[in-house]
This record gives sequence, structure tokens and C-alpha cells, in this order.
Amino acid sequence: MIKKQIKFSIHKSIKNIYSIVIFIFSISLVFSQNKNSPFIYVLGNVQDAGLPHIGCESKICLDAFNEKKQYYVTSIALIDKENHEFSLFDVTPNITEQLLMINKDIFNQFILPKNIFITHAHIGHYTGLMYFGREALGSKGIKVNVLPRMYDFISNNGPWSQLVKLGNISLNEINFRDNIEINAHLSVIPIQVPHRDEFSETSAFLIKGPNKTALFLPDIDKWSKWSISLIEILENVDYAFIDASFYTNDEINRNIDEIPHPLVIETMDLLDELPSYQKDKVYFIHMNHTNQMLDQNSDITRDVLNKGFNIARLGQKFYL
Ligand SMILES: [Zn+2]
Ligand SMILES: [Zn+2]
Repeated sequence: MIKKQIKFSIHKSIKNIYSIVIFIFSISLVFSQNKNSPFIYVLGNVQDAGLPHIGCESKICLDAFNEKKQYYVTSIALIDKENHEFSLFDVTPNITEQLLMINKDIFNQFILPKNIFITHAHIGHYTGLMYFGREALGSKGIKVNVLPRMYDFISNNGPWSQLVKLGNISLNEINFRDNIEINAHLSVIPIQVPHRDEFSETSAFLIKGPNKTALFLPDIDKWSKWSISLIEILENVDYAFIDASFYTNDEINRNIDEIPHPLVIETMDLLDELPSYQKDKVYFIHMNHTNQMLDQNSDITRDVLNKGFNIARLGQKFYL
């Protein structure tokens, strides 16, 4: 009996020591991540035209206006606190507020991005560049990484060409599949995606950190048109910020064929069979003002979360 008790208490104390070690390890991991690890910072989750949306009289748009709720156009920053710098993915019409967010929440001072990466030439993704020009900040030489068609588009069309001519921005031509090193621990790889490429090609970005990788893919026509399988790419990343423009095809009064996107219900169907840890990597982003996933309390939001997926929200941080 006594032998049994001793055995039990030894077993119990080993278990306790084990839990303490695990606890200390997790705490130190959290602290080391907070102190040193670079992270992705969500600066907006709305489709190009933002929220409130022009001409929209629905509750979510009026509430956003009346209550001055913050909803910004889709963009993420890669924050590297250790080196006191950051890179910006897409430059939205909300760039003023978004740089203020980075100032107030991260660095406690106004700093400009060391690198900008642009996915494509639709209004929510690059027009914020105008705020770097003579009429606004008058910046000097901000490095803007663009793919070849986007390079020509900005270089040869006003008002963007003036930013180049005056040296407000400095264009750097990149190509799909290039491995662009930001520093020894961070790199970015542009990947081509099919989209309405009227003025430029369209890119997604793989963002590689010291421990984790994220995919930023705010716009695509349909998953089936892509040469890469979404399921395969999910296996190779830790976070996937992907196009959630529309939840279903009956939410807008326009011909949805003119503006093709993978509907969120289609994406969830496509990924339905995946194990939960794979679904958990998905963070839906770039939601149209009609998409009720923007409302944290909607039934649709609850449904998406219950199915094991996530929705990107303003100010979230993801350590890499
Ligand atoms: Zn867009
Ligand atoms: Zn687009």
C-alpha cells in the first residue's frame, strides 16, 4: 500500500514537473516571440472600395460612418521591430490611417516602409501611392517592388509617373518566383494569380519569416483557373490570407461574371475535407461591403468560424 502511494506521488510529482517545464517553455516562447520575432500586422480587410462604400445605404455602411468605426481597405505590414523597419503589402486609399496605426501601435513614431510590394493595379491596391507625392508627403525614394507590367504602368501613366520622375518613389522591377531578401531572416516571393489583368499582372506573395510562412492573396478570379492548387499551397504555409470578396453570388445587384472571385462558400467547400489544423491556417480577407463576414456578430461570421476557418480583422498580429 505504502509502496503504491510512493509510486503514485513520484508519478504525480514527475507529472507536475513536466507541466511546469511545459508552462515555462510556453511562456518563454510567447515572450521571445513578442520581443524578437517579426510579425504580420493586419491593416485592413475590406475590398478595394472600402467601407463605408460609395452609394451604400445599408446598415453596416451607415454605422461605419455614424459611429466612426474603423474599416480599412485590405493591406498587411510585415513588422520587424528588432531592425526598426517594416514592409507594406499593397498601398490603399487608407494609407494615411494605416501608417498612423503602425506609428501608434508599433513604433511610437512615424516611419515609412522600407519596402512596398504591390499585388496589382486595381484601385484598392496601389492608389495610396498618390499620398507619397508632391501634394502630400513628398517622400524621397521609397522602394516600391513591382512586376514588369505594373512597372510600365506606373512609369508611363500620370499621375503615378510623376512620383517616379520626382523621386518620391523608387521602382524596383521584380519577377514571379524571385526570392526577394528583405534581410537575413525575411524574404518575399511573388506568385502569379489569374485575375482581371487590365493594366497589370496580378501577384500573390509568399512571406517567409525565420519560423513561419504566410501567403497574401487578396484577389483571384477562381481557384480552378490557378496553376497552383490551394490545398497544396496550404500544406506549405502557416497562414493564408485569401480572397473573400463575396460570400455568395446573390449579395450584389451586378453581373458577378464581370467581377469573378471564388465565393467564400465555394472556398469552404473546396477545403471541406481538410483536417482542422489546415483549415485553421485560412484567414479570409478582402471582403466586399456586402459580405456579412465583415460584421463580427453576423450569422455568416459564426458559420465560417464554426467550420474551422478564420476571418482577418484589423490590428491582428501573426508571428513569423
Ligand atoms: Zn481588390
Ligand atoms: Zn483586383
